[in-house]
Amino acid sequence: MNIRQTNWNIAKNKCFDITIIGGGINGAAIYKKLSQQGYKVFLVDKGDFSCGTSQASAMMIWGGLLYLKNLDFLSVYNLSKDRDDLIESYGNQIISRYFRYIPNSEWGRNKYFVYLALQFYWLLGKCKRRRPSFQQKFEELSFINKHNGKDSLIYQEGFLKQSDSRFVLDWIVKHQTEESLAINYCSILNATYNNKDKLWSLDLKDNFARGECTIKSKMVLNCAGVWTDEVNKQFRIQSPYKHVFSKGVFIGFERPVSHRIPLIFEMGKNGDTLTFIPWGPVSLWGPTETMEKSIKNGYTVKPDDIDFLLKHASRNLNTSLSNSKIISLRCGLRPLAVKKTFEADCYPLDLSRNHRIVEDLDLPWISIYGGKISGCLSLAHNVAKKISKKVSPSLKGSSPVVNQFPVYTSFPGLQEQVPTVDWCVANEFCCTLEDYLRRRTNIAQWVSREGLGAQAENIEYLRGVSSCLPIFEEKNHEMYLNEYKNLVQRQFDTLVDGVNRLT
Ligand SMILES: Cc1cc2nc3c(=O)[nH]c(=O)nc-3n(C[C@H](O)[C@H](O)[C@H](O)COP(=O)(O)OP(=O)(O)OC[C@H]3O[C@@H](n4cnc5c(N)ncnc54)[C@H](O)[C@@H]3O)c2cc1C
Repeated sequence: MNIRQTNWNIAKNKCFDITIIGGGINGAAIYKKLSQQGYKVFLVDKGDFSCGTSQASAMMIWGGLLYLKNLDFLSVYNLSKDRDDLIESYGNQIISRYFRYIPNSEWGRNKYFVYLALQFYWLLGKCKRRRPSFQQKFEELSFINKHNGKDSLIYQEGFLKQSDSRFVLDWIVKHQTEESLAINYCSILNATYNNKDKLWSLDLKDNFARGECTIKSKMVLNCAGVWTDEVNKQFRIQSPYKHVFSKGVFIGFERPVSHRIPLIFEMGKNGDTLTFIPWGPVSLWGPTETMEKSIKNGYTVKPDDIDFLLKHASRNLNTSLSNSKIISLRCGLRPLAVKKTFEADCYPLDLSRNHRIVEDLDLPWISIYGGKISGCLSLAHNVAKKISKKVSPSLKGSSPVVNQFPVYTSFPGLQEQVPTVDWCVANEFCCTLEDYLRRRTNIAQWVSREGLGAQAENIEYLRGVSSCLPIFEEKNHEMYLNEYKNLVQRQFDTLVDGVNRLT
């Protein structure tokens, strides 16, 4: 029996201290913290863990350099502290990495201004990272347009070693016990609070295998990212805050050989920047930052997003990055916390990235607004503090960390080894081809056409992968493969041209 089925069986009719709705970075960080404190925690995600915005970030664990432009020094101070705590405590998942800021005197900031800003940034970070300095000769000059000037400034941030979704997943998977557990592809249909026994009764629906059950919980945390307001509305919870959404898109290209550290370029508008980030065999260019009203549109890359990014790429890079050379697309929606009365008419970067923790006045229900991967430790800490005033942990000690060591295999064209699909199904809640290719491994981001290959050369390999996935209801493995091919056609092929496709 795989871990998902096991957890489903254990969860039935069980009573938890806390139920968390949403397995993105916010939900995962809180889940981990509370489990370690001896709470019985249940985490539920209506899709796969990390299938929302937490799979689409720049993977930077940073102090929020850009927010200096809003004079938001407190946020930068706090984020820098979080960054350093994360690097110190989770060295196996986060590395300290040099970044290179390329000032552009033509349409950006003066290099001495950037220098001073970076020194201030370093001071706000309590001088924990290497002191920023000018560097004139660097390898990446070979693919940067000359008008960017020869000067660059290097400074240090943190960076996720494998990926954002892996980071989230590891924090969930390693804290699975009989008392604290998680289930993906599971929705909450009804939530009713019984004042007599002071417990929520939550009706769950298995979205994958069509089961249903009920659990009890002393408190509920809504960590549904951009869906937080929807979830609150579904269960009639009021809040003085709401989310506005900022869409962010990256495009991935084959990494130039001399591209070794993330580069920051001036956008020349709204004080914003664009980054070129080396990640395995690809370099990510982006992100965009556009206000978006609809969640569906926010998770869909549009031709305009690609045009915008290609236009700016050609201004800064001389490596002829055209549409036909795109290897992967990456798209997410930033949940930004604002007062309920706020009417959005500004550039999203001008809005605060702080998180808000909102306690319902009548019911034991907490909603999380905003938040960043970089700030996940302090968010979890602050939430745990609030909870401790209302609910005590049922268990005496902290729950054990499960350290399992994956079985690895190779994937055509990738140098790095990847965990086998069998392993991911058994131990990591992997249910679909997309779960495996996009979130358990980086195949969908590193190999063209979401892993299919530019000319569908990996189709037989993917057929083998799908034959290891669990089957439910009337589906069969060939259906999984066809569904995935259709998804690639819809989400990638319609936007990216120039390859000779055979599927
Ligand atoms: C382009 C881009 C770049 C970024 N770069 C960085 C960066 O470099 N560093 C950084 O720190 N931050 C970065 N961010 C911000 C960061 O990625 C987000 O703030 C963070 O991932 C949001 O996490 P979350 O847990 O709130 O939401 P999500 O990751 O979206 O998770 C919410 C989860 O809730 C689930 N859910 C929704 N509704 C329900 C329901 N009814 N029942 C059960 N589950 C539900 C969803 O399926 C989802 O898994 C970036 C964001 C973007 C868009």
